[in-house]
Amino acid sequence: MKKLNSILGLVVALVLMNPNVFAQEKNAPTYKLITNVNVWDGTSDKLVKADVLIENNLIKEVKNGITAPKGATVIDGKGGTVMPGLIEGHGHLYLNGLTLADIENNKGYDELAIRAAVKAEAHLMSGFTTWRDAGGMGTGLKKSIDAGIVNGPRIYPSGALIGPSGSHADFRNYTTPNETMFGAHTSAARNAMSFTADSPEAIKTAARQNYMQGATQIKIMSSGGIASQFDPWQLNAFSAEDIKAVVEVADAYGSYVMSHAYSKTAIMRCLDNGVKTIEHCLMFDEDVAKKLVEKGAYMTTNVTSFSPLIDQLDYIRTSPMSKKKYESAKIATKDFVANVKKYQPKMGFNCDAIGDLQNGITQADYSIYLSGELFGNLFTLKSLTSVNGEIVKLVGDVLDPYFEGDLGVVKPGAYADLLIVAGNPLEDLTLIGANEKWFDASGRAGDDIPGMKLVMKDGKVYKNTL
Ligand SMILES: [Zn+2]
Repeated sequence: MKKLNSILGLVVALVLMNPNVFAQEKNAPTYKLITNVNVWDGTSDKLVKADVLIENNLIKEVKNGITAPKGATVIDGKGGTVMPGLIEGHGHLYLNGLTLADIENNKGYDELAIRAAVKAEAHLMSGFTTWRDAGGMGTGLKKSIDAGIVNGPRIYPSGALIGPSGSHADFRNYTTPNETMFGAHTSAARNAMSFTADSPEAIKTAARQNYMQGATQIKIMSSGGIASQFDPWQLNAFSAEDIKAVVEVADAYGSYVMSHAYSKTAIMRCLDNGVKTIEHCLMFDEDVAKKLVEKGAYMTTNVTSFSPLIDQLDYIRTSPMSKKKYESAKIATKDFVANVKKYQPKMGFNCDAIGDLQNGITQADYSIYLSGELFGNLFTLKSLTSVNGEIVKLVGDVLDPYFEGDLGVVKPGAYADLLIVAGNPLEDLTLIGANEKWFDASGRAGDDIPGMKLVMKDGKVYKNTL
């Protein structure tokens, strides 16, 4: 016992002499080495044979014959393909009621939040490691995911769908209501899901409020839509002055504006006034293609707009007005697919599912299938990875919550957000969930994509059936 005491005393003395002993233990890098795989890097039209070394949460090396560092966890990929985790370019985790009216009238924020958390985990388990939310959510779920309290993708939130609120002069605490906005008579406004702002000044206030509460980019509705009750899709809702105002605020934060825009007038007005991503962009044509290139801008399109099954969507099925709107949009956008094939724009994957968990899963699976059918597997895979990886990084360094590395690519320095699939995704999109059935799909659990063997986010393995 005496001998033991003296040994313990010696250890304690050594530790006290060198306080870095524990710190060094804690900071020692951890390694994972993925072997026996091909790699699809997010951009190329072919696979390459390589190992992938991960140091902590980042990719360290991608090449053939890497020697495992001491203590590395070796993952045998069993001849599968390593590819980037998928990125949703335009989702709505919190718009999870049956219709927009159902969300406004029947769902409290706590219910929406719980449903959103369940959806977030299911989408992560389906391979979506990053999610750009196109409006309707705050940052509570994102922060909880980042803190490891619940599982889900990295989230780039837009805050409320849309002054100087949130400035150096703003002494409110985080949850103090903003009187100009929270006097609004909608649940969506009270819960910072959707703000009504009718002047450049009001728009600026709303944008600043979103940034104050952690939005990474601002989402505006510069044309009408089909799911909503009162607006024709042809409506050009925001003037050039309105758009300039919100872009000015986004620029001040080093960030950018994404805009819902169907009509060509709305699309061109947005691009001419500094909007960086056009959402839906349904009247895409040669002029828009040239303008996107000139402005270094992107589009994201929900390809289900071009599905023969779309009139089975709840909001179209249950609303004669939405059905009428859809019929006229179908005629106006008949050249979209041919134009995308011809001009090959930088187009991000956009699922845009509203509704419950099963809606989210079946619409994502069907969107991947339909995109493959319309534009080919490589175009679809790039839209799901490297193109959306560029889009989320439009946020700029200052506000980017995930500033350590690139997203949507497999290369040294990028985040270790990776999938291993049992085959070649360039030839088979069912490996990432593609399903030709939509409303009559049998439904599945979040992690039930048989060909997707491993899901890793930030270097951590969430699914492994290898
Ligand atoms: Zn949307």
